[in-house]
Amino acid sequence: MIDMDWLLARCIVTPHGCLIWLGANSGERQPGRRDTGRGYGKVRIDGIGHYVHRLVFNEMVRPVERWEEVDHLCARWFAEPYLSRLCCNPEHLEAVPSLTNQHRRILPPPHSLRGTSGRFVSNIGAE
Ligand SMILES: [Zn+2]
Repeated sequence: MIDMDWLLARCIVTPHGCLIWLGANSGERQPGRRDTGRGYGKVRIDGIGHYVHRLVFNEMVRPVERWEEVDHLCARWFAEPYLSRLCCNPEHLEAVPSLTNQHRRILPPPHSLRGTSGRFVSNIGAE
């Protein structure tokens, strides 16, 4: 079980309540290479690597099924959506089928006509 004190000691809290992981992340490259800034929080427990957001959801909300991905609902209110990948607030996470997560990823945030990739994307077919 995740110790929340341990978790909180490794995060900063944003005004929106995001818990931004300050430890290792999957966007870090080899020494001398630039951090991509698009990584997910990573932690190693007993020699096994985990994504922090997935681990938190799995332990504090419900088990994540094999066909699911843990989506960051807070990506919608971040000016820089990639930063939300480091959030591990269980209230900001939702486990959804991979296809749903991919579909959401290309939709623009409600306040913008730009998708997270910076390209205009149509809202047709949105849920
Ligand atoms: Zn968040």
